[in-house]
Amino acid sequence: MRYLIVSDLHANLEALEAVLEAASGHYDRSVCCGDLVGYGADPNPVCDWVRTQCPIVVRGNHDRASTGMDDLEWFNPVARKAALWTLEELTQQNADYIRALPRGPLSVDGFQVAHGSLHDEDEYVIAAGEAGDAFTYMETRLAFFGHTHVQGGFIWNQSRVETILRVSAKSTDSLLAIDSECGYLINPGSTGQPRDGDPRAAYAIYDSEAKEVTYYRVAYDIPAAQAKIHARGLPQILADRLSVGR
Ligand code: ZN
Repeated sequence: MRYLIVSDLHANLEALEAVLEAASGHYDRSVCCGDLVGYGADPNPVCDWVRTQCPIVVRGNHDRASTGMDDLEWFNPVARKAALWTLEELTQQNADYIRALPRGPLSVDGFQVAHGSLHDEDEYVIAAGEAGDAFTYMETRLAFFGHTHVQGGFIWNQSRVETILRVSAKSTDSLLAIDSECGYLINPGSTGQPRDGDPRAAYAIYDSEAKEVTYYRVAYDIPAAQAKIHARGLPQILADRLSVGR
């Protein structure tokens, strides 16, 4: 089985469409590590795709915030404004769908899916030290997560934790062979709002038979996504950051 793994779509339809076009024919099932909405201008079309095409999904913190499930006082003003706009914009069907999404981690076909860490959906797993703790919570040898918007992740190898780097700026993909002796925390990167310095949309494909994860980056129409953010009156910084991937 080949799984398309996406995370942190953040209502960016142009980025999602570019990923789906590039990945077309190369996967059998889809997995989403949360944050379908928030920040971007197209919450409904992005949510429609996840709801109808993506059977394995966990919720993210922006999904809770954008559907009235969370107090927004912990959000910065920009994120709060986007969450409130999204709440107004979502159809009843999509809002109900998002509110019913499970908290991670989910266990599927020998791997786990979470938004933040495996024991706390809101925790950012950024450094090898934090990942070392996370590995102690793993039920399987492989887990996919998001939340940081940084492509890569971590390998646990005989008590040593190594960092996996994102696809290089000169390339569009990078292959990782899965060693059954090691543990893997895999972040496919953010499709809709990358923050690892590469503005291209990120995703990964996991082939459970070949025991391989391939990380990908694909260019998309950033000016079109930015123009929609302007047109909806969302904060300028949400458009600007897409150009730089920060
Ligand atoms: Zn996010």
